[in-house]
Amino acid sequence: MKLAIIGVGLIGGSFAAALKAAGKVTHVTGAGRSRENLELARSHGLIDAIATDPASAARDADLVLLATPVAQFPQIFAALARALAPRCVLTDAGSTKCDVIAAARASLGAKLAQFVPGHPIAGAEQSGAQAAAATLFHERRVVLTPLAENAAASVQRVEDAWRACGARVSRLEAEEHDALLAAVSHLPHVLAYALVDDIARRPNAGELFSFAAGGFRDFTRIASSSPEMWRDICLANRERLLAELGRYRARLGELERLLAAGDGAALERLFAGARAARNQWLKSSS
Ligand code: NAD
Repeated sequence: MKLAIIGVGLIGGSFAAALKAAGKVTHVTGAGRSRENLELARSHGLIDAIATDPASAARDADLVLLATPVAQFPQIFAALARALAPRCVLTDAGSTKCDVIAAARASLGAKLAQFVPGHPIAGAEQSGAQAAAATLFHERRVVLTPLAENAAASVQRVEDAWRACGARVSRLEAEEHDALLAAVSHLPHVLAYALVDDIARRPNAGELFSFAAGGFRDFTRIASSSPEMWRDICLANRERLLAELGRYRARLGELERLLAAGDGAALERLFAGARAARNQWLKSSS
């Protein structure tokens, strides 16, 4: 199978590495925005060839993974619409699905049925080809949100590829995916960025950071993620993210009231409930 990766970063590079390690691809072509990153990807053996643009990368491929930040998708879909061979299946790794599907519907035309939307629920705060790892998707979930137009064989090809990467594949409606991810992924990223931003702007930021330890490090790890990628995700899913921020603000308001009232028993009940829920989640996800 010939694979093309558009955007050979953490996710695209890891997908290529995992499929190579599994012996599922014979040749990988990469296209990207930064020549330096593509050269690095080739020297690390993630890709075999560098294409000058997405259309040339895709022209001869059996499978194409689109793995750039989601705001880049519309222009790339437009370029790919002219390049995809009839046997080729196009998929993506974008963290949001409704906007991606709308962009595909607007640009892919007769090639729409060849596009199977997907999202690996795996990643890290590092970016670029140097962060790619063949094991990134081991035992991690990948969600596919197939289109009514997709042939079963096309969806199967994408599912098989993710399974070969070691992932567990499930299917959701795009709307449901975006609502779920707004709550458990997009909201936490915004909270982490907001906390670090607030601390960093204070006149005594240096002193504050010098006292920050494990708790701060754990809570804010994801504020080291790519700002471009998260700008795009937040804007793409902004209605659902705004709703989640509203809910969170209400919970903070409740905590504020308990604190102001000095209601230690209620605070402890809330903390105990949260701890039990988190421990249960850790147990079921390990
Ligand atoms: P990354 O920054 O590591 O890689 C993105 C790559 O796309 C970069 O190499 C960049 O040069 C390239 N690129 C940007 N614009 C381009 C364009 N117009 N044409 C060609 N290449 C272009 O990012 P990543 O973490 O690999 O994320 C890629 C996608 O996967 C995003 O859509 C993101 O939402 C999604 N995703 C990320 C994670 C995560 O945790 N990082 C997890 C799941 C899904």
